Amino acid sequence: MSWMSMMLTALLCLNISVPNMVQSDYTENPIMETPVMRINVYMMGMIEVDPEITVLVNENIDFLNEEFEGVIEFEFNQFFMDHGQAYLPDLHKEYMNFEEASTIDALIKPIEVEGAINVFLFDTYAIHGTNQALMGFTPRLKAQQETYQLNSPNFDRIFMAYEGLDNKSTLVHEMGHFLGLNHPWELSGSKKMAFGIRTNADESHNHMSYGPDVNKFTAQQLESMRKHALQYRKYLMDRVVSTYART
Ligand SMILES: [Zn+2]
Repeated sequence: MSWMSMMLTALLCLNISVPNMVQSDYTENPIMETPVMRINVYMMGMIEVDPEITVLVNENIDFLNEEFEGVIEFEFNQFFMDHGQAYLPDLHKEYMNFEEASTIDALIKPIEVEGAINVFLFDTYAIHGTNQALMGFTPRLKAQQETYQLNSPNFDRIFMAYEGLDNKSTLVHEMGHFLGLNHPWELSGSKKMAFGIRTNADESHNHMSYGPDVNKFTAQQLESMRKHALQYRKYLMDRVVSTYART
């Protein structure tokens, strides 16, 4: 083998081993952009680390990544602990009523950091006379979504109950809201179809429904969330992974 052909072989091998994820030709448009979003978790009302909750949080983020199927990726960034305490249903009521003396702001403003999806964990309680309890809520803009960054970190929050960590679906559902999805029953028939929710079974299994059967997003929902993230939530991303077609 001549020196030249050895070089060629080496180059050829190198070429073949270049994975698709590498930006090999900057003049090309990527065929896919995958947002990688940061998550901070705030353990409210806690002053000591509870290893069980730490493990649960990690399992929740693993499950979140499974259910988003690599279309969007989530990276755990940082834990915070704070003695500030409140009950999730009370905070929700306050948020819905636009009450002026806001417990939410008093508790959260001093500790929240910018640049990540901030998940705040609180205790919850059952609605009087039932065994149902609020497990999470996610404040968001109904219009002018391009102002999310301007309003940061006010709308970078997900509120969740510690108890909501147990089924792992709560965080997935709330992240759906965070990235622009509504409950199926809030959608018109044609909108539901456009999101790939065609049958009652599709609806009851969908992460944006309530109940024990939820286990998936549709491909259309995932794509809608990916676009929403890239359009409005880039400031919460660690990076965007570009996939280029090989030519
Ligand atoms: Zn919901």
